Parts: sequence; structure tokens; C-alpha cells
Amino acid sequence: MSPAYEPVIGLEVHCQLQTASKMFSACPVGIGAPPNTLVDPYTLGLPGTLPVPNAQAVRHGIALALACGCELHPQSRFARKHYFYPDLPKGYQITQSDHPYATGGSLEVPGFTDAHGQPKRVPLTRIHFEEDAGKNTHVLGEDHSLVDYNRAGAPLLEIVSEPALGSPDEAAAYLRELRTLVRTLGISQANMEEGTLRCDANVSLRPRGQATLGTRCEIKNLNSFRFLAQAIAAEIRRQLDLLERGEAVVMATLSYDPERDRTRIMRTKEAAADYRYLPEPDLPPLSIPAAWVEEIRSSLPPLPAARRARYAQQGIAADDAVLLAAEPELGDYLDRMLDAGAPGPKAANWVTGELLAKLRSDGRDPSASPVSPEALAELVGMVERDEVSGRSAKAIFATLYTEADPSQSPRAIAERDGHRQLSDDAAIEAVVREVLEGSPGQVQQYRAGKTKLRGYFVGQVMKRTQGRANPRVLNELLDRLLDPDAPEG
Ligand code: ADP
Ligand code: MG
Repeated sequence: MSPAYEPVIGLEVHCQLQTASKMFSACPVGIGAPPNTLVDPYTLGLPGTLPVPNAQAVRHGIALALACGCELHPQSRFARKHYFYPDLPKGYQITQSDHPYATGGSLEVPGFTDAHGQPKRVPLTRIHFEEDAGKNTHVLGEDHSLVDYNRAGAPLLEIVSEPALGSPDEAAAYLRELRTLVRTLGISQANMEEGTLRCDANVSLRPRGQATLGTRCEIKNLNSFRFLAQAIAAEIRRQLDLLERGEAVVMATLSYDPERDRTRIMRTKEAAADYRYLPEPDLPPLSIPAAWVEEIRSSLPPLPAARRARYAQQGIAADDAVLLAAEPELGDYLDRMLDAGAPGPKAANWVTGELLAKLRSDGRDPSASPVSPEALAELVGMVERDEVSGRSAKAIFATLYTEADPSQSPRAIAERDGHRQLSDDAAIEAVVREVLEGSPGQVQQYRAGKTKLRGYFVGQVMKRTQGRANPRVLNELLDRLLDPDAPEG
């Protein structure tokens, strides 16, 4: 990035809500159904049909607004946004323009900090409800296009950020966090490939340090995290090039061409569509009852930012904390381990290491783990207390996982399979003395300075204890008993 200019980015994100039916009709919604099978008279814009808001969609919207600390407006309004295109049978889309149901609030961007070194929070402008359009497919080389109305009328949230993101990577991290959040709330699949999460990016440059914003351009329809970051970077290059040549950036809508890694102007402001917004005459203002808000607030799951804060407090590395908080089921698993008293960093290592490896190779969700969080917490505690070695712990874990018998505790397996570490100082000391007495020659050489022989003594003790001697205790004993000044025997 040029030292003279800094980029400013704001995102408009569309998120399809997980509901049984569409935003304004009882027509079912779903991904992957055969084209035009999820339609009804309202979806098709047939005369005499009227919209009825979907209560589940509204509840989902409330949950997100609460999670972001937005101001929830008890009354919001719907409007018609008109445009004419085959994917929109009604000729307008119902959205919330001047009176969104939620404004303000913010979203934390993990891994990024603000000017004060605090976790970066990006302020939100607004969140509002909309219905989706259908989908046109232009068939290459044919004289016709195809249209599928399954998606028409699907419930959407649009989440608009303030222009407060400072780099392509930060924008991608923001979008990832939003995906994590809506998945944690269980309100959306938020899958960019399937289009249940979509993003437009607004990009401008300004002289570094200047408070006023530069002219922005909007890149439409970014459908992967990688393309989002790449497109923003390409657009920054394009604008920088203009500015450095002394030319002005003209407000425009662009698309991103991944093959050429370039943004391309689709239309400039002069050609911007006039959507002729009108208040939606068929819908009263949307009322959000306070009782709903309180009920939803009290049933919110642990949120990713709160989880990361808890994990940081427990000494868990930031990368692990992000990973664990990004997968609600993993977070739930870890939380139960912490609740059972497992030390944070060790618990996190086990979850992101041993456990996740097994679960992934089996294609299992954490909630279906054959080893319960409480059992794993017990095992971690046994390692902490030197009851079993780290190596034995892995063997015990593998046994617990394959035997999948919830009645077997790690302690019982350790006992049964002879994994219990000898930490009893007296017992180990007896073995060490035996070994030293049996090898007077080596002891003499060691004391004369051949310290490499230490490995020999360790090996002998481990052999006699089947590897179960606690290495720390063993080393302390060797230090003491091999000390040349120590009394013999
Ligand atoms: P529209 O709906 O016409 O695109 P909005 O005012 O709702 O306009 O802004 C949309 C997005 O553009 C917001 O995410 C906002 O943060 C972002 N934005 C506005 N001005 C700028 C700017 N100068 N540079 C970068 N992003 C901007
Ligand atoms: Mg826009």
C-alpha cells in the first residue's frame, strides 16, 4: 500500500435466514430443490396475494441485532424497491429502507486491533430485513436465459457496516466473524458457495491521516472470502493508480474478474438505477414486542467474542481461541472441559490437536465425540498431576475413543492397561538405587565426568518400571544420588 494513501472499506452483507418458509409467504424455502418447485402465488406475484411477515425470520433478526449490541427499534417499516428484471416477478423487492429494525452496534474482528491495541470492533450502520430475488441463468451460446424462482422471496438480513475496515484481510476477517456469529446463533447456514452469505464491498482511498472519506466504488457479488480480499486489493490498486496519475475516482459499481485479478466498472453513478422506493402499502409497520426481545436475549448461546475473551483469560493462545470460538460445537466442548476444571492451554491443545484430528478423520461432529469433554478434562488433569505421562495419555485417549464406552473413565483405563505413572518417590528411589548398585563401574565413570552415561541410568530405570517412572522425579533422584559428594549407597 502506498504510504500516501490509506484504504477505507465498508461491507454490505446479505445473509439468508434459516426458516421453513419465505419472508412473506408460507411457501417453503430450501437450497438445491429442482428449479421452480418452491413457488406459490405470492412468490410469483400473482394478483390478489398479500405478504405476511415470517415470525421466525424476525426472531432470527432480533437475535443478530442483540448479539451485535444494536439498537432495536420497536417499530420499523417496509418499502418497495422497484426494478424490472426477470428474476423479480412482482416488479419490486420488499426491503426496509429509511426505517430499519436495527441500527448501530458493532462486530469484533478477531486478530485485528484498533489504534489503542484493543480488539478491533467495526461499527455497524444498520441491519434490515429483505426478501431475495430469484436467479437468472444466462445459457452460453443460447438465445434464451433460464430463471428459477425458488429463491425469490427467501428471507434475508442485510448487514451494513460503517466504512471502518482498513485492509482486504481485515474485511475478510470481518466477514468470517459475521459468518461465525450467524452460525453460532443458528440463524443461517451462511455458506458463500451456496449463496446464503453474499457480500458487496465499498472501497475508497484517502490521503493518510485525512478525516474525510474519499469517493467510493462498490464491488458487487463477491462469493468467497478469497475473492473478497483479492477484489478489494485489486480495487485499491486501480484507485491508487488513478490518484497517482492525478485523476479522480468516479463513483461506480464494479465487478471483479478473478481470472485477470482486476475490478471492472459495470456502471457509474449517472447510470444508477432509480428504485422509486415507496412505503409498502400491504404491510403495517413491523412491531417487535419487548417480550420477544427479552425471551430471545435470555436464550442467546455463548457468543464468539465472549468465548475468545474467556479463552484469552484462561491463557489459551489467540489462534486457538479464534479457531475454537469459530466452531460452536468445538467451543461447547472446550467450555465443558473448562467447567470441569481442565487448565485452559492444555485443554485447548487436546481439543485442537488429538480430538479434532480424530473427529475430522471420522467425519464426526464434536457433539458426537466418543470421548466426553468431562473424560478428556479428567485425562488432562491426570497428566497435570503426573499420574500418567503425556505418551500414555495419548494411548488412553485412543482407547477411550475406540472403545467408546462412557462407563470407562480415563483413570480406569490407565489402571487396567498399566499406564499409571510411578510418581511415588520412594518406589522410584528404590528402583534407582537398585540400578546404581548393579552398575558400580558406570557410576564411577559418571562421577568422574562421563555424564553421557545418564541416559543409560534413565534407560535402566524405565526398563524396570515399563516406562512408567515419572521423568521429573527420576531426574531429581539421579541428580541427588549421582552427586559425587553424596554418601555412597
Ligand atoms: P448504498 O446502499 O447506496 O450502497 P450506503 O450509504 O448504505 O449506500 O453505504 C453502503 C456501504 O458503503 C456501507 O457499508 C458504508 O460503510 C460504505 N461506504 C460509504 N462511504 C464509503 C467510503 N467513502 N469509502 C468506503 N466505504 C464507504
Ligand atoms: Mg450499496
